[in-house]
Amino acid sequence: MASVDTAALVDWIHRFRDAVTAKRDWLTELDSAIGDADHGANMARGMDAVVAKLEAGTPATVDELLKGVGMTLVSSVGGASGPLYGTLFLRMGMAAGPVTELDATALAASLRAGLDGIVARGKAEAGDKTMFDAMAPAVDALDAAVARGADLAAATVAAAQAAAVGRDATLPLVARKGRASYLGERSAGHLDPGSASTTLLFETLAQATA
Ligand code: ADP
Ligand code: MG
Ligand code: MG
Repeated sequence: MASVDTAALVDWIHRFRDAVTAKRDWLTELDSAIGDADHGANMARGMDAVVAKLEAGTPATVDELLKGVGMTLVSSVGGASGPLYGTLFLRMGMAAGPVTELDATALAASLRAGLDGIVARGKAEAGDKTMFDAMAPAVDALDAAVARGADLAAATVAAAQAAAVGRDATLPLVARKGRASYLGERSAGHLDPGSASTTLLFETLAQATA
């Protein structure tokens, strides 16, 4: 596809809900090693609430759709991941504006704005062992693919691959943000749960734009 319309975004959101639900136990297991064992439950609960709200009515424009997703996540997920993922979608919607579809350039700009929102909120930097470590390389890869003229499907596949590399690179890191940072050196040797869910976010985006 050349652009993502609201139906494709809804498909993405459903796929992400299904992925965090299928991987709920794994996400929780990752969080039990370096956090409080709720990341799978948090993401599944939040995305269930998002899907339930969309089933009650789908907004006609990209900004209303994405802002609604963000607000539902903020209000239904306690913990760090709710406000952070909520901010991602809210800022994506604000950047997108009242349009009915996003081409590859607009999608990349929207995700960049979402990432900037996560940084503004959580102050994570590269190597802090957070969702940033999957999301920033994914957004960079998306930008790079768009700049070299890749189509949407190829660009989102490149982003998903970069997210997975970033996720795997969190394994040896010592956490400097979030609950895992309380463990200090003992946080090394485990994947960051938020980087794992963020990789699912980009993998499902690639599926929804294939
Ligand atoms: P909580 O830690 O409140 O239980 P979750 O378990 O749902 O929340 O989410 C934890 C994830 O949130 C971490 O794995 C990490 O990726 C992410 N995270 C935590 N703090 C920050 C932050 N300041 N910036 C970016 N991401 C963060
Ligand atoms: Mg947790
Ligand atoms: Mg928690």
